[in-house]
Amino acid sequence: MKLEKSIELYTKGKKNLVGAVNSPVRAFKSVGGVPIFIDKAKGSKIYDVDGNEYVDMVLSYGPMILGHRNSVVEKTIKKYLKRGYTFGASTKGEIILAKMVCDVFPGMDKVRFVNSGTEAVLSAIRLARAYTGKNKIIKFAGCYHGHSDSLLVAAGSGLATLSIPGSKGVPDEAVKNTLIAEFNNIKSVERHLKKDDVAAIIIEPIAGNMGVIQPSSKFIKELNELAKANDVLLIADEVMTGFRSKFGGAQELLGFQADITCLGKVVGGGFPVGAYGARNEIMEMVAPLGDMYQAGTLSGNPIAMACGIATLKELKKQDPYSDFEKTAAFLEREMKTAAKENGVDLQVNRFGSMINPFFTKTRVVDFKTAQTSDTDKFKTFFWKMMENGVFLPPSQFESWFLATAMTKRDIYKVRSAIQVAMKAVAD
Ligand code: PLP
Repeated sequence: MKLEKSIELYTKGKKNLVGAVNSPVRAFKSVGGVPIFIDKAKGSKIYDVDGNEYVDMVLSYGPMILGHRNSVVEKTIKKYLKRGYTFGASTKGEIILAKMVCDVFPGMDKVRFVNSGTEAVLSAIRLARAYTGKNKIIKFAGCYHGHSDSLLVAAGSGLATLSIPGSKGVPDEAVKNTLIAEFNNIKSVERHLKKDDVAAIIIEPIAGNMGVIQPSSKFIKELNELAKANDVLLIADEVMTGFRSKFGGAQELLGFQADITCLGKVVGGGFPVGAYGARNEIMEMVAPLGDMYQAGTLSGNPIAMACGIATLKELKKQDPYSDFEKTAAFLEREMKTAAKENGVDLQVNRFGSMINPFFTKTRVVDFKTAQTSDTDKFKTFFWKMMENGVFLPPSQFESWFLATAMTKRDIYKVRSAIQVAMKAVAD
């Protein structure tokens, strides 16, 4: 596999960029070797600067659900680029996207657009505290909610990949109100709810940042009941799952309604957009209607709104969710068959268009069991997949994603790569 130009850029990049990247997972630290540098992408394919072509299952960690440069979306972006890039005043696009989002999530009467998933979640936490007058937050080990101080505890993928328990620079006071529960373990939530002062429970309803982990339906049902019974707000972090698990996100798929919903990734179609929304009485706490302050120079950016609107319209039209399910089921079968043939211990977790393997005998239901995966085996698997033309997230603890642009041919290419990679794991 030729990587000379990536190596050259990596060497140059390290001078003025930290680790030559702008987000740690891109450094390929847990899989070793040199991170690839991307030249371009189109549809289901992504190309690095050395001209290697890959079927893209990273999809920018989720946003590119239609694949790259969908023609309808691109046409819309070009049209809006001609009108200016940012105005510091409101535009019609914000109203259109807000209505589209609120129509899809029944728990949302109003929404506020921000620039990232991190911003959406940290604002949602501030809002929950403002609304309830309480301070403590329950989060689940292994769930990632962005890099704001109070949520960088037991935060899954990025930290787990680098084996960092939390982050330096986060003062104890910033996390003293963050209580950690175990995913799929309702008793661990009940224990924390005995304390008063709990404002909210925040969850990735389908976890994607410790690898993919499905919630049991009993767990989700009981979590909703517990939140209501204790006057605690339930925050669904659907930054990854919104418009991906189903058009109405994990909430539609799992059949529940959160008090506050956080969105990101797909809602901006590849531009920096995050959002948080809730029913009127909660959202009316937010400035300028209320006293909870939150703002942003580029929030509701007109190009980003146009891209989000076009992406959601196209996604709704294509309605890919049952196809995603079939493709993910196919990949699960193929991975399990290849593992069996090669005597490799393997679990495959998937939900909707999110899927990933764990190299372990143990059934993976939470962060602890996710960490039983043999990350050396993942490393071997990862590089063989790359050599065979499939771009995967360079971490055991990230989900792979599907896009509507993926063809049968792409899927068969992924299958062939899996067969080679699983054999390499066994050798
Ligand atoms: N919440 C979840 C569930 C995520 O997966 C992520 C990012 O991967 C975030 C929040 C943070 O989003 P961003 O990286 O856009 O800040």
